[in-house]
Amino acid sequence: MQCQNCNRQLGKLEKGYILHRGEFQYVVCCECNDRLKANAKPKQEASTIQAIERTSKRLKARQLIFWLAMLISSAVFVVVVSMPVIQREMTGRDPGRFSVSAAILMLVCIIVFLIGLIGYGVTRWKVWWHHG
Ligand SMILES: [Zn+2]
Repeated sequence: MQCQNCNRQLGKLEKGYILHRGEFQYVVCCECNDRLKANAKPKQEASTIQAIERTSKRLKARQLIFWLAMLISSAVFVVVVSMPVIQREMTGRDPGRFSVSAAILMLVCIIVFLIGLIGYGVTRWKVWWHHG
């Protein structure tokens, strides 16, 4: 019998070890069995944990960006909406309807807010998906 890892001939009294690698089985010597078992599994687990941590960190960063987008757009929206009120308070006269630039700004705010909302929702779902 021969070790299928180092090709060493196994001695008469030496027993071979069966090592599982995916769907394959290998007969290896005692040294190879110890070495391969020691260095194969922990590495795999560590990289899996790292990948999950990396993913959740990336998702959290993205969540923060979407949240900030929602916060900033709603803040700008409030400012733009309250501008005529502030103007009326300051000048004492009614500035009338919103200017075109104000309307465009409000529209942009709504779009940014919606993108932030959808992005935030999708990211939350992804976080849930990765953890559940
Ligand atoms: Zn060997």
